[in-house]
Amino acid sequence: MIPAKFDYVRPSSVGDAVRALGEGGEDAKVIAGGQSLLPLLRLRLAYPELLVDVGGLGELRGVRDEGDSLLIGALTTHDQVMRDPLVAAHCGLLAEAAGTVADPAVRHRGTLGGSLAHADPAADLPAVVVALDATMIAQGPGGERAIGAGDFFADYLTTDLAPGEILTGVRVPKLGPGWGYSYQKFHRTAQAWAIVGVAALARRSNGQVEQARIGMANMGSVPVRAAAAEAAAAGADASRDALRSAAQRADEGTHPPADLHGAADYRRHLARVLTARALAVASGA
Ligand SMILES: Cc1cc2nc3c(=O)[nH]c(=O)nc-3n(C[C@H](O)[C@H](O)[C@H](O)COP(=O)(O)OP(=O)(O)OC[C@H]3O[C@@H](n4cnc5c(N)ncnc54)[C@H](O)[C@@H]3O)c2cc1C
Repeated sequence: MIPAKFDYVRPSSVGDAVRALGEGGEDAKVIAGGQSLLPLLRLRLAYPELLVDVGGLGELRGVRDEGDSLLIGALTTHDQVMRDPLVAAHCGLLAEAAGTVADPAVRHRGTLGGSLAHADPAADLPAVVVALDATMIAQGPGGERAIGAGDFFADYLTTDLAPGEILTGVRVPKLGPGWGYSYQKFHRTAQAWAIVGVAALARRSNGQVEQARIGMANMGSVPVRAAAAEAAAAGADASRDALRSAAQRADEGTHPPADLHGAADYRRHLARVLTARALAVASGA
């Protein structure tokens, strides 16, 4: 289908983009890679009157070393995240998960910021930033503010971004020594969306898991942490049996959807199995 008519601006600075969004009010929308928004426009599920194309804002692209953390620009594509040496060295979980997003064509256009701002609970990268305890950086008419990943995802396709705010980047703490990671995605076919995805981090010392952090995709209306499994894994032997036992609690407190791809109970089962696998890889069990 052909999208409804809209006006289009391509600002040359973040300040201009924020101003254009403010002037457009509720009828204005940011467009980045267009990989999620364009299908919605074509299906007429969204019909903004103004599109603010941030694609030309080079300042929002790329990865910067900030000492204890990396600042990844919102416009950095999935392909760039996947291949960036700083991301590989300090936040390998993000690189691994970015490599599972869709196919090369989508990964070359789709952006990290677009994926997070779109807030699809089935998407891979929101679950990863939740596990990484990342911080979203937003710029709006009132200036810049930081939002923890746990507070950023408010509901299905809804974030804490206020009208007129642009996501400019994501600050990801570097993983120190001893941390391992794994992203486990169960999908019907290669390149498809996750039926369930599990992003796990584990810090191992003297044959034990000292700490585990687990984010899950498609286990609720927002990406969720598997808090009970994290608690059960902390202090456990880094053995497959012990981690499988901790993973039995992965679905506690979740509200997975039921759809054509799977019933809620099936997703609960997947969450437990994938968490066991992810923890085993992350802790080298
Ligand atoms: C065929 C196909 C398969 C896919 N498979 C997967 C998959 O397996 N896993 C997965 O995780 N994703 C998948 N996706 C989605 C893909 O990851 C998109 O790239 C991503 O969701 C959106 O990024 P984008 O830059 O294209 O955003 P856009 O489509 O441009 O925008 C998406 C939304 O975010 C808002 N937005 C974008 N950037 C900003 C910003 N900087 N600040 C504020 N708001 C912003 C827009 O207003 C819009 O509401 C798939 C997409 C397609 C088309």
